[in-house]
Amino acid sequence: MVHDWLKPAWQQLLAGRDRLHHALLVHGPGGIGKSGFVADLARALLCDAPLPDGAACGRCAACGWFDQRNHPDFRLLTPAAMEEARESEEGATDEGSSKSAGKGTGKPSREIRVEQVRALERFTAVGGHRGGHKIIVIDPADALNVVAANALLKTLEEPSGSTRFVLVTSRPDALPATIRSRCRLVSLPMPAPATAVDWLARDAGVEPAQARAWLAAAGGAPLHARRLADPAQAAIHRTVMEALAGIPETGIEQTADALTGIETPVWAGMLQRWIVDLQRVRAGAEPRYFPDRAPRLQALTRRTGLPALERLARQIDELVRTADHPLNPRLVIEDALLRVRAALAD
Ligand SMILES: [Zn+2]
Repeated sequence: MVHDWLKPAWQQLLAGRDRLHHALLVHGPGGIGKSGFVADLARALLCDAPLPDGAACGRCAACGWFDQRNHPDFRLLTPAAMEEARESEEGATDEGSSKSAGKGTGKPSREIRVEQVRALERFTAVGGHRGGHKIIVIDPADALNVVAANALLKTLEEPSGSTRFVLVTSRPDALPATIRSRCRLVSLPMPAPATAVDWLARDAGVEPAQARAWLAAAGGAPLHARRLADPAQAAIHRTVMEALAGIPETGIEQTADALTGIETPVWAGMLQRWIVDLQRVRAGAEPRYFPDRAPRLQALTRRTGLPALERLARQIDELVRTADHPLNPRLVIEDALLRVRAALAD
């Protein structure tokens, strides 16, 4: 079930499945379905009896193993934190069965670590168990830390004949150039708005108007918009929205209280989009992400100018880049809020 907007890329890749480059770098905007696409690709490449169009049959032993996540010729490298999220999404609520305790203490890592890459050396050293390809998916590849990326380079340089790498990222520029240059780039597109609205309305069972509003808030990314159909996610979205729209009148303490406990990428991503809309409205354009907040955006931009907003955008981008693993999320929130308040009180 490859999404409609990814089908051209899918067909092109599978038409050349016997001549695929040994390392693909699949990139494109966040929230368009890259991870699902790559999982389907790996399943198709491992399938014993692919369909005429190259897709997996879904019935053979290899497809069965893949679906149960124990295909011997497949490895997924992902940060421990994402592995845990995947498991809990699948309803693995029984704590006794969870591997998430992991080694060491504290939170699971948001990075892909060198030990995970080193474990691949053993995997790639021996031939495929089933005489076919071995597939390694690295998702997201920008989570490789520096040491891990260096260790991976060696394997990418001297691939064993049957091993295929598929790296996935929304931020290809965040990867070392040495890694990028060893991969064939595969670019996946953002869907056209009408395509995204159709899919979202159908998938979430809502009216097109609701789908359009969610898509706007998610910057056009259908899978991010789809999450807003979940009441818990919608509540978080509303909380962040109210908190951001309340600056500068609402106190920093109170706003920070509202945002504490919400994942940094979630509130920071919305803040970045809020600032884009402030800039657009200040320049006389329509808001792109929060059209229903146009009056508030208008009121706020009367107090500030484009240079201050551009400075703020840069500051928040920088904060987000360096706040991947904040030791104290609360300080990051307060830092961001103080900057927003300063820009809006210019
Ligand atoms: Zn199959």
